[in-house]
Amino acid sequence: MPITVLDYVKSVVGDKETYSAEDFYRNGVGLTGGCQLCAATLAAYNAYPSSSGFWRCADCIGDTGFVTVADFKARTFTIVACPACGNTDTISETRITTERAEEYALECGDCGEVWQP
Ligand SMILES: [Zn+2]
Ligand SMILES: [Zn+2]
Repeated sequence: MPITVLDYVKSVVGDKETYSAEDFYRNGVGLTGGCQLCAATLAAYNAYPSSSGFWRCADCIGDTGFVTVADFKARTFTIVACPACGNTDTISETRITTERAEEYALECGDCGEVWQP
Protein backbone atom coordinates (compact mmCIF):
# COMPACT_ATOMS: atom_id res chain seq x y z
CA MET A 1 0.00 0.00 0.00
CA PRO A 2 1.11 3.59 -0.51
CA ILE A 3 1.91 5.80 2.46
CA THR A 4 -0.78 7.54 4.48
CA VAL A 5 -0.75 11.11 5.77
CA LEU A 6 -0.04 9.68 9.21
CA ASP A 7 3.00 7.79 7.89
CA TYR A 8 4.34 11.07 6.63
CA VAL A 9 3.79 12.92 9.93
CA LYS A 10 5.31 10.00 11.84
CA SER A 11 8.41 10.17 9.72
CA VAL A 12 8.88 13.87 10.43
CA VAL A 13 7.77 14.11 14.05
CA GLY A 14 8.93 10.68 15.20
CA ASP A 15 7.01 7.88 16.89
CA LYS A 16 4.58 9.14 19.50
CA GLU A 17 1.58 7.79 21.37
CA THR A 18 -0.71 10.43 19.94
CA TYR A 19 -0.30 13.19 17.41
CA SER A 20 -1.75 16.64 17.94
CA ALA A 21 -3.35 18.82 15.29
CA GLU A 22 -0.27 20.97 15.61
CA ASP A 23 1.93 18.07 14.48
CA PHE A 24 -0.03 18.00 11.26
CA TYR A 25 -0.48 21.68 10.51
CA ARG A 26 3.14 22.48 11.23
CA ASN A 27 4.14 19.96 8.58
CA GLY A 28 1.80 21.23 5.93
CA VAL A 29 -1.00 18.66 6.11
CA GLY A 30 -4.43 18.63 7.69
CA LEU A 31 -5.76 16.24 10.31
CA THR A 32 -8.89 15.31 8.40
CA GLY A 33 -10.09 15.66 4.84
CA GLY A 34 -12.14 14.02 2.15
CA CYS A 35 -11.49 11.59 -0.65
CA GLN A 36 -11.09 13.33 -4.00
CA LEU A 37 -13.15 10.72 -5.84
CA CYS A 38 -15.84 9.32 -3.54
CA ALA A 39 -15.88 12.13 -0.93
CA ALA A 40 -15.50 9.70 1.97
CA THR A 41 -14.41 11.42 5.17
CA LEU A 42 -10.80 10.66 5.91
CA ALA A 43 -8.56 10.99 8.93
CA ALA A 44 -4.78 10.98 8.72
CA TYR A 45 -4.43 7.22 9.27
CA ASN A 46 -6.63 6.25 6.31
CA ALA A 47 -5.93 9.20 4.02
CA TYR A 48 -3.58 8.49 1.16
CA PRO A 49 -1.95 11.47 -0.51
CA SER A 50 -2.31 11.11 -4.27
CA SER A 51 -0.03 12.46 -6.97
CA SER A 52 -3.06 14.48 -8.06
CA GLY A 53 -2.37 16.69 -5.05
CA PHE A 54 -5.50 15.56 -3.21
CA TRP A 55 -6.21 12.87 -0.65
CA ARG A 56 -7.89 9.63 -1.56
CA CYS A 57 -9.29 6.71 0.43
CA ALA A 58 -7.88 3.17 0.35
CA ASP A 59 -10.40 2.19 -2.35
CA CYS A 60 -9.69 5.10 -4.64
CA ILE A 61 -5.95 5.58 -4.32
CA GLY A 62 -5.14 2.94 -6.95
CA ASP A 63 -1.62 3.50 -8.20
CA THR A 64 -1.62 7.29 -7.71
CA GLY A 65 -0.24 7.12 -4.17
CA PHE A 66 3.32 7.55 -2.97
CA VAL A 67 5.42 4.50 -2.19
CA THR A 68 7.76 6.31 0.18
CA VAL A 69 7.57 9.38 2.36
CA ALA A 70 10.56 10.81 0.52
CA ASP A 71 8.62 10.63 -2.74
CA PHE A 72 5.70 12.44 -1.21
CA LYS A 73 7.85 15.21 0.21
CA ALA A 74 9.77 15.73 -3.01
CA ARG A 75 6.57 16.03 -4.97
CA THR A 76 4.51 18.09 -2.55
CA PHE A 77 6.88 20.55 -1.04
CA THR A 78 9.00 21.57 -3.99
CA ILE A 79 7.67 25.00 -4.74
CA VAL A 80 8.07 26.05 -8.32
CA ALA A 81 8.41 29.77 -8.94
CA CYS A 82 8.44 31.66 -12.22
CA PRO A 83 12.02 32.72 -13.02
CA ALA A 84 10.76 35.97 -14.57
CA CYS A 85 8.27 37.31 -12.03
CA GLY A 86 8.56 34.95 -9.03
CA ASN A 87 4.89 33.96 -9.13
CA THR A 88 4.15 30.52 -7.63
CA ASP A 89 0.37 30.28 -7.97
CA THR A 90 -0.47 29.84 -11.62
CA ILE A 91 2.35 27.69 -12.95
CA SER A 92 1.09 25.06 -15.37
CA GLU A 93 2.70 22.26 -17.31
CA THR A 94 3.01 22.69 -21.03
CA ARG A 95 4.92 21.25 -23.98
CA ILE A 96 7.33 23.12 -26.16
CA THR A 97 9.01 22.17 -29.40
CA THR A 98 12.78 22.40 -29.25
CA GLU A 99 15.41 21.44 -31.83
CA ARG A 100 15.45 17.95 -30.41
CA ALA A 101 11.85 17.08 -29.72
CA GLU A 102 8.68 18.06 -27.95
CA GLU A 103 9.63 18.61 -24.37
CA TYR A 104 8.08 19.23 -21.03
CA ALA A 105 8.14 22.82 -19.83
CA LEU A 106 6.42 25.09 -17.33
CA GLU A 107 4.40 28.17 -18.12
CA CYS A 108 3.62 31.12 -15.86
CA GLY A 109 -0.04 32.12 -15.99
CA ASP A 110 0.85 35.56 -14.77
CA CYS A 111 3.50 36.87 -17.17
CA GLY A 112 3.50 34.14 -19.83
CA GLU A 113 7.10 33.09 -19.27
CA VAL A 114 7.84 29.55 -20.48
CA TRP A 115 10.87 27.68 -19.17
CA GLN A 116 12.28 24.24 -18.67
CA PRO A 117 12.92 23.24 -15.07
ZN1 LIG B 1 -12.60 7.22 -2.16
ZN1 LIG C 1 5.85 34.93 -14.40
